[in-house]
Amino acid sequence: MFTSIAGRAVVVTGGTRGIGKGIAAVFARNDARVLITGRDAAAGEKAAADLPGDVHFVPADVSRKADCDRIAATALELFGGTDVVCANAGIFPGAGLEELTEDMLDLVLDVNLKGTFFTVQACLPALKQSGHGRIILTSSITGPITGFPGWTAYGASKAGQLGFLRTAAIELASSGVTVNAVLPGNIATEGLGDLGANYTSQMTSAIPMQKLGTVDDIGYAALFFATDEAGYITGQTIVVDGGQVLPESPEAVG
Ligand code: NAP
Repeated sequence: MFTSIAGRAVVVTGGTRGIGKGIAAVFARNDARVLITGRDAAAGEKAAADLPGDVHFVPADVSRKADCDRIAATALELFGGTDVVCANAGIFPGAGLEELTEDMLDLVLDVNLKGTFFTVQACLPALKQSGHGRIILTSSITGPITGFPGWTAYGASKAGQLGFLRTAAIELASSGVTVNAVLPGNIATEGLGDLGANYTSQMTSAIPMQKLGTVDDIGYAALFFATDEAGYITGQTIVVDGGQVLPESPEAVG
């Protein structure tokens, strides 16, 4: 058994649905105190009420530095500190390279990449005080390992998070704050559902386990990084994808 994380103060950006809500649920079920964020206040309040345990919501757009400062301040007010930050909020609009506009590129990088910086920077003073500070990024297999047409901007943002992670891990190592990332494959979420049935069936057939992942699958990987027992792991990634990155050809998928 791992040492309990009961009572730890956890911030999950983009925690109002999908993977972030799953991460929040796993931490809450393990008796952590959780603050979730998102832009849609009605959806956020509902998600906080739906989730089990001690879960709160603050509206925030992670692409805005002032909003991320407010997330950190709210966690301090509610919990008196922050032990774990899950920088999970992200978007994945598709556009081929020739159609990708500057506005869309800015949006994807602002939310997925700059949002990671702003979230971590805002929570850093509290994390350093924690004694077991943990930063856990939701990256992706797309970008760091694989590619998919239409996702040059998204892939660059997700690979960029790992560039951030490796240097941040070194900078923070002496303070005991670890920085790690979960790389999901294809996980059944509202956002993935928006890509349509063709996309999900195409992906399912490319996964050796022949099924999409669940938000709990990502939540438990994040929970592992948050444990005391994972305290000597930093700057690392864990792929949670049902084996999707493994096949050398479609015929290799049983
Ligand atoms: P989702 O179902 O669309 O949920 C996205 C969450 O992020 C929502 O809570 C959303 O709330 C929030 N969000 C979006 N833009 C935001 C912003 N600017 N500021 C604050 N919050 C924002 O997406 P998901 O599938 O769970 O994906 C979550 C993360 O996992 C993303 O980083 C994504 O890249 C990564 N990921 C997902 C998959 C997958 O298969 N699902 C695979 C690999 C990686 P609001 O809209 O109310 O702001």
